[in-house]
Amino acid sequence: VSYAPFDALIIGGGPGGYAAAADCAERGLRTALVERKHLGGTCLNIGCIPSKALIHLADRYPGIDDSGLRSIGISGGRPSIDLTTSIEWIDAIVGRLRTGVGLLLAGAGVTVIEGTATVVDGKTADVLTAEGPSRLRAANLVLATGSSPVELPNLPFGGSVISSTEALSLSQVPATMTVVGAGYIGLEIGTAFAKLGSKVTVVETTKQILPKYSANLTRPVLKQLERLGVKVMLDCTARRFDSSGTSLVVRNADGRERHIESQWVLVAVGRAPATSGFGLERLDLKMTGASVWVDDHCQTSMTGVYAIGDLTGEPMLAHRATAQASLVADVLVGRRRKWDHRAMPSVCFTDPEIMSVGLSAEEAERGGIATAVGTVSLRANGRALISEQEDGFLTVVAALDDHALLGVHAVGSGISELTAAASLAIELGATLEDIALTLHMHPTLSELLAEAAKRALRSIAKRQPT
Ligand SMILES: Cc1cc2nc3c(=O)[nH]c(=O)nc-3n(C[C@H](O)[C@H](O)[C@H](O)COP(=O)(O)OP(=O)(O)OC[C@H]3O[C@@H](n4cnc5c(N)ncnc54)[C@H](O)[C@@H]3O)c2cc1C
Repeated sequence: VSYAPFDALIIGGGPGGYAAAADCAERGLRTALVERKHLGGTCLNIGCIPSKALIHLADRYPGIDDSGLRSIGISGGRPSIDLTTSIEWIDAIVGRLRTGVGLLLAGAGVTVIEGTATVVDGKTADVLTAEGPSRLRAANLVLATGSSPVELPNLPFGGSVISSTEALSLSQVPATMTVVGAGYIGLEIGTAFAKLGSKVTVVETTKQILPKYSANLTRPVLKQLERLGVKVMLDCTARRFDSSGTSLVVRNADGRERHIESQWVLVAVGRAPATSGFGLERLDLKMTGASVWVDDHCQTSMTGVYAIGDLTGEPMLAHRATAQASLVADVLVGRRRKWDHRAMPSVCFTDPEIMSVGLSAEEAERGGIATAVGTVSLRANGRALISEQEDGFLTVVAALDDHALLGVHAVGSGISELTAAASLAIELGATLEDIALTLHMHPTLSELLAEAAKRALRSIAKRQPT
């Protein structure tokens, strides 16, 4: 097939690439999108959506231990699970969303090409499809090839050693699973399987679970993992899979080796930008570590070549990729836009959930901003008590001088929904007074925001001489 030159050629159909394609086409650009596997990329097919569906499934499962239910007067029979049917349910959700992406792209007038793209130069890519090869030319190239799971040299993927992709499509609940890496991906999946009845062990080299988050936020999560019977081994390194094929050998801080019975070993030690295998080296792009460097227009070091999403490094999050996509589309049609988001929400969908938006007090102080902080416990919130989820807290961080909200950080069941209010407040430049004086529905978790803002204001008042 031969194509006339495009205005924008996008490589990769994840939340970065498909959003960029739809946005470019909607702005009147002649746009092509090349995707080698499934529209929706990692997030829709093997990431955000299937993992949250598995978490939902595990939360619906009453568990073998129903003492929690009995304490509120509910009892039932012994539950069972048919994971094959569960996975079919997850696949159906993914399928519906993927169809939606296809319709969005068709509606916008994007030329979608199923195939693998190889970059030739800054304006050309070769695509290999089932029908054969084609050469595509475009005024602008948008690279959105995403990321892939990091492999440990001593525990290569294969056999019983799996990545999140395989862990999200198992046909049976494993008897035993060891998760290597206590980041959000490993803990989300590990917690779900523990709730479904697996004996789960988590092995983490640092001294803390979720090492990217403050230790305070992670404590309720650790407590719940222990309640669920998950064995968490901190300061412990995975060494190798035993040749007999049934156990993972780990080394504790004291140097001693231990064998952990593991039907599956889920290696979740991070993701790396997908920079190899598609001719990227031909472009001689400036890099930041393993990721492609971009300026605040998402332009790479080469004119007319843009990069978005996980390929551009941390934070590797779907909504960041999508926001970069709309930015690039605006830039390509000459609108004056740059990346100036103040608040990047991130959530661990663990039990309980952790949310973090904007700056922590430490980050603000390091940047020379004096802060005021207000913290409120979930125990003081009616909705949290009714939901039997009182473990957790919410902290607001504001600038001491003008009381502008800088960050919101919280741990608690269902707390992820508060990221919207927190992001909006920070982006709109809300002050502690704005939040404290806004009416928040009772009884909801959102009242925590107003309460924490009031506490921060009280702490400021106490500092001032009377
Ligand atoms: C288990 C898991 C859970 C996650 N949960 C969340 C979450 O809850 N919230 C969140 O925000 N993020 C989550 N993420 C991260 C999220 O999935 C990524 O940040 C997001 O998918 C990045 O989007 P992207 O468009 O940059 O890349 P991707 O989604 O990785 O898409 C890249 C696409 O490019 C295609 N491609 C690559 N090379 C070529 C080529 N040469 N030719 C053609 N096509 C190519 C790939 O097939 C792929 O479809 C999760 C990730 C995982 C693994």
